[in-house]
Amino acid sequence: MKTNLLGYPRIGEKRELKKANEAFWAGKISEKELFEVADTIRAYNWKIQKEAGIDLIPSNDFSFYDQVLDFSFSVNAIPNRFAPISHLSDMELYFALARGYQKDGIDITAMEMTKWFDTNYHYIVPEFYKNQSFKVRYNKALAEYQFAKDKGFETKPVLLGIVTYLLLGKEKENDFDRLDLASSLLVAYKQIVKELVAAGAKTIQIDEPCLALDLCPKAKQTYLSVYEDLRASFPNTEFILTTYFGALADNLSLALSLPFDVLHVDLVRASEQLDDVLNQIDGKKKLSLGVVDGRNIWINDFEKSVTLIQKAQQKIGNERILVSSSCSLLHSPCNLELENNEKVLTPEIKQWLAFAKQKLAEISTIKAIAENSLTESQKSAVAQNKTSNDNRKTSKLIHDTEVKARVASITEKDAHRKGAFVERQAIQQKALNLPLFPTTTIGSFPQTQEVRSWRANFKKGVLPLSEYETLLKEEIEASIRFQEEAGIDVLVHGEFERNDMVEYFGEQLKGYTFTKFGWVQSYGSRCVKPPIIYGDVLRPEPMTVRWSQYAQSLTSLPVKGMLTGPVTILQWSFVRDDQPRSTTCTQIALAIRDEVVDLEKAGIKVIQIDEPAIREGLPLRKKDWEAYYDWAIRAFRISASGVEDSTQIHTHMCYSEFNDMIQAIADMDADVITIECSRSQMELLDVFADFKYPNEIGPGVYDIHSPRVPSVEEMSFLMEKAIKVIPQRNLWINPDCGLKTRHWEETKKALIAMVETAKQLRNKY
Ligand code: GLN
Ligand code: ZN
Repeated sequence: MKTNLLGYPRIGEKRELKKANEAFWAGKISEKELFEVADTIRAYNWKIQKEAGIDLIPSNDFSFYDQVLDFSFSVNAIPNRFAPISHLSDMELYFALARGYQKDGIDITAMEMTKWFDTNYHYIVPEFYKNQSFKVRYNKALAEYQFAKDKGFETKPVLLGIVTYLLLGKEKENDFDRLDLASSLLVAYKQIVKELVAAGAKTIQIDEPCLALDLCPKAKQTYLSVYEDLRASFPNTEFILTTYFGALADNLSLALSLPFDVLHVDLVRASEQLDDVLNQIDGKKKLSLGVVDGRNIWINDFEKSVTLIQKAQQKIGNERILVSSSCSLLHSPCNLELENNEKVLTPEIKQWLAFAKQKLAEISTIKAIAENSLTESQKSAVAQNKTSNDNRKTSKLIHDTEVKARVASITEKDAHRKGAFVERQAIQQKALNLPLFPTTTIGSFPQTQEVRSWRANFKKGVLPLSEYETLLKEEIEASIRFQEEAGIDVLVHGEFERNDMVEYFGEQLKGYTFTKFGWVQSYGSRCVKPPIIYGDVLRPEPMTVRWSQYAQSLTSLPVKGMLTGPVTILQWSFVRDDQPRSTTCTQIALAIRDEVVDLEKAGIKVIQIDEPAIREGLPLRKKDWEAYYDWAIRAFRISASGVEDSTQIHTHMCYSEFNDMIQAIADMDADVITIECSRSQMELLDVFADFKYPNEIGPGVYDIHSPRVPSVEEMSFLMEKAIKVIPQRNLWINPDCGLKTRHWEETKKALIAMVETAKQLRNKY
């Protein structure tokens, strides 16, 4: 048996790469210094993998920005618009592709970015053109392989698979299919492999996660043709085909028929596929069993993993088995050893966790258990693993019988508002007395340097609580006064007290914990530190009521309460793996429900429950969507349905592409939904119009990502478009999203213009 790793985090344990990248972009360090940081990270990663007993250590899993971009760059898939900067150094050009280029009168937009499967990692979307040709511009895999070799590490180069690469990209011209580029791409691909083999690479990993998706017949055909060709060209190289993030399901026989020496399967996401894999595998192919979760932070359950491996042992024997992580550890934080502040992370909880470095040891230990070759220290690790898992099953920190009982007792009624939308709309109209085309904002106002410094000083203990709160109150009052003067109809308090829309709630909920260094790459130099849901979620006390109530006390206009929805809280956290996600989500929904009810009691008449992440929670396979919507939409409804019909519930989503989810959005039954719309020039509204979306809707009339102040004309133009397709009385006017990244100067101008737009429209209609 061997141990196999698919990939390791590249950000550095203390985000060294982030800092170096950003310093390089700011012109503060040289290319050479940037490479030194990268080299140190790479060498360290290989060293600890070797020490942990990993046999197949990956190389080329490192990236300065993104591995998909690396591949585009390697095969010269560089869009023509970057031609004016072709004189730049490779490194500068590479970053320009990801970040755009504005200098010396040249203005080139960056390549697009989107989510990597169902993770929170974003890749740079390849752009494809008709008759595009590929050539090896820079064999990055070779450079990394050789660099590792020079450092004394024999590695397994990792390449993005041809079909997955093409499928992840976008056609930028009409009348062609990007899969038709496969044969041309294969030529460059073979060149890359040829140079790797010549340099001594014996085993090459080819990532084809698209095999876990619904595939069209043409994609299946392409899989066969390219990989048969590749195999024939390199008969003596060992190729590993890696699949992850889901079951192969209907693509299993295809995956097994591809001429690879090893097939890697994800047994964390889909342990049920093992039987089928074992039944259908031929007499020679090896299996890499992904039993250590690359996407979460819990210690492995050795007994469970070993049971899976034993099944394989009986069927195909030790020689043909590799023990592995489910996917690349890119999605795990780096090293739990750094978490040594017991106040942040208690020892009891810490023993339940494993980050990337700890997962390496787990892979080795699991192999040793299965092979009966445990060392003394591994024996004690096994004992510790059992103790910790047993503790986790029964710990009082995790299990709260009251929470469980409450979840069990939820009825259908709890997931429904009292009256139907039409009745509620009439009642709310009376209660709120809003004009036609009411104006509002999405929640946050500028988080200025000052506001941030107050929070930082308060957290450091330099600023006493009472002074901190006084400052916040002053800021809230100023924002209320501004909104009144501007003439906005439904006000917000501004969210100045919040660091982040999930962390802020997590910090006040039982069942949540946090880390100091639990960073995971989100995109480029951007890292996130998702909070950890370890136990049953309970809201010990109101979380936002005080601030909303204070803001409401300052004005006679309605102030909107502002909450993050259960699905978004779930989606942006590390989630328990000892119960279904749906159960955890329902627990969060109850906590939010209680908050909604308390806000209502405190006199708040309009309450917004943000759900920007509902769409990204969608399962990879269409057949699983309905089940997801069933619990996710229900969770939102549970959170929203504890109030009277006179209380107006808003939700907000800032994801384009509502196409395939409009029914689900309607099922949420929010009284008002605000959506990001301006960049699509209101095109996103068409889905709502075609569907005859019954409830009220606020299509964003200006983009909040730029400091540009929109004119009344352009906002009117967008609203006129909206008025054509949506009943007037259902339309609101608001920006695309929250304004926390903006400055006050442009925010004020933009909102004053927005109110002016509403006034003009009211005069006209
Ligand atoms: N209420 C949040 C804000 O305004 C919404 C953020 C979001 O949609 N991502 O900041
Ligand atoms: Zn938003």
